Amino acid sequence: MSKLFRAVIMGPPGSGKGTISERIAQRFALTHLSSGDFLRENIAANTEAGILAKTYIDRGLLVPDHVMTRLLLPKLEEMTRHSWLMDGFPRTLAQANALNSTCDLDLVISLNIPFETLKERLSERWVHPASGRVYNMGFNPPRIQGRDDISGEPLIQREDDQPEAIVSRLRHYKDLAKPVIDLYRSKGILHKFSGTETDRIWPYINSLLSTKIPSISQTVTQHAPLP
Ligand code: AMP
Repeated sequence: MSKLFRAVIMGPPGSGKGTISERIAQRFALTHLSSGDFLRENIAANTEAGILAKTYIDRGLLVPDHVMTRLLLPKLEEMTRHSWLMDGFPRTLAQANALNSTCDLDLVISLNIPFETLKERLSERWVHPASGRVYNMGFNPPRIQGRDDISGEPLIQREDDQPEAIVSRLRHYKDLAKPVIDLYRSKGILHKFSGTETDRIWPYINSLLSTKIPSISQTVTQHAPLP
């Protein structure tokens, strides 16, 4: 790799951020970092931050900024020799400012998905609480209805994915994300992608990143295409 590459992907709940992050990580050999996964790992390991974070996540709230930064920034400092894509952080301006003081981002991807599409996707979303694995009954159903593919344990519909909660959750996301998006726009590193289908947005993200990370994309495209 000629130069390290640091990117952030932002998008409201249900925007397909996780799926797109996995595709980017695979195609461009970036390490996919997910704040939700870090939190779940910390919860599973019963760390001090994990125990604290769980009290917020269980209530459907965002974990406070100081807990998030205390957890994630040291992790990023360990990654000084790696290229990475961060998914789920920053979610607030305070988090973005903290990230700013740790590293220079090369690029920010912002997913702009119509409100009706998000509402529909979230209402069909079921999760396996222990692992955080997410299913969509419409386009990504589990192999056995109501059961996690790996553990076989029951899936649940998160309280904040129930129709009444969805609207306020999306509004809350938008309010918090707006100043973060504005910040990255003013830095000239924001790239916005709009659409209703992940598979239609993906080629545009792929070609943007191919121009930004040419050495990696040339190596990786020699391998099998993505499914
Ligand atoms: P996710 O897997 O991204 O949906 O995250 C699961 C939960 O972890 C969220 O609903 C939040 O409660 C919490 N969380 C994840 N990332 C952040 C963040 N950057 N700031 C605050 N809370 C977060």
